Amino acid sequence: MNQPKIWLSSPHMGGTELEYIQEAFDTNWIAPVGTNITEFENDLEKYLSKNLFVTALNSATSAIHLGLILLNVKKDDIVICQSFTFAASANPILYLGATPVFVDSELETWNLCPIALEEAILDTISKGKKPKAIITVHLYGVPYKIDEIRTIANKYNIPILEDSAEALGSCYKGQKCGTFGDISVFSFNGNKIITTSGGGAIVTQNYELKKKAEFLASQSKDEAPHYQHSELGYNYQMSNINAGIGRGQMKVLNEHIILRREMHDFYVALFEKTPEISVFSTSSPDYFSNYWLTSILVNPDETKNGINRETIRLALLDSNIECRPLWKPMHLQPLYKDYPFYGNNVSETLFEKGLSLPSGSNLTDSDKERISTALLNLLS
Ligand SMILES: *Cc1c(COP(=O)(O)O)cnc(C)c1O
Repeated sequence: MNQPKIWLSSPHMGGTELEYIQEAFDTNWIAPVGTNITEFENDLEKYLSKNLFVTALNSATSAIHLGLILLNVKKDDIVICQSFTFAASANPILYLGATPVFVDSELETWNLCPIALEEAILDTISKGKKPKAIITVHLYGVPYKIDEIRTIANKYNIPILEDSAEALGSCYKGQKCGTFGDISVFSFNGNKIITTSGGGAIVTQNYELKKKAEFLASQSKDEAPHYQHSELGYNYQMSNINAGIGRGQMKVLNEHIILRREMHDFYVALFEKTPEISVFSTSSPDYFSNYWLTSILVNPDETKNGINRETIRLALLDSNIECRPLWKPMHLQPLYKDYPFYGNNVSETLFEKGLSLPSGSNLTDSDKERISTALLNLLS
């Protein structure tokens, strides 16, 4: 097998990143402070085009952790979280000694089900404790049911922490994802739509919260000539080198969105005549997805030759093409199996039948050819 590996989603440099890194070297700002950081934050604020404040951090996981602290989540508080997600959405709940309550997805957006969400809130309240926050996720770049979820959150006066790690550039009714939460976060991990190698950001609605996020992220240093600490701090800042990569990547973000959406179109066309495989797509013009990862559902009952998501995954692997089952829901994870879960088996079924396919903005025509040959060989 001499063909190079085709990755699910790999970094795609735009070309100007090294200039910003060089600038950091030239000015010797090899530190978690510097022009690249402030300019990267400015670029993101402009991109989101709302009156919001962005603080660059070393990961989205850190951003969620700080976000929960800013929402005043403490030990033994309850935090509701979408079950169908990557573990980083939920882990910071446990960092704080709080208790996660997981909620199922609905089939239209694969995200938080409003009905199960309200049931979880009411049941939790009836047991004597109101949830402190709701962690929502735009999985694979598809916005969740923003209006329905916001209505419920407001009805019970519970803030939303919006995990927009996968959804930079996605929109709902023309408004950018990452601007809907009381606090929102982005990830710039290597596999995301743009990357800083590793990194994240927290988005807040007022300047005091941004300042508080910066304070917590830099070890909570009090105003004093010596190092003095009244509060527990964290080392969560982004490096000025990484932010240089981010500045370069912001220049190609729109192009990356176009290319990821072209990958989605490529799969829609590829599976057009294969009714047993459906490509996950947004259902109404209100939803604009960056299609960070294009995912399919394979219905084994309808498929000839017993083809299911696992046979497809292994056949692609055989051609040195990476693909991955959908996120295993948190309530099915050994770590989280004992926490409450509200819903049916929507996310469980998605996990059983679903597969994410190579979706990078850097896939070439010959990569696409290899992917379609491998898939069509299996399905014919
Ligand atoms: C990638 C991802 C994260 C974590 O991002 P990091 O920057 O790697 O910490 C959180 N939530 C979701 C949904 C993600 O996909």
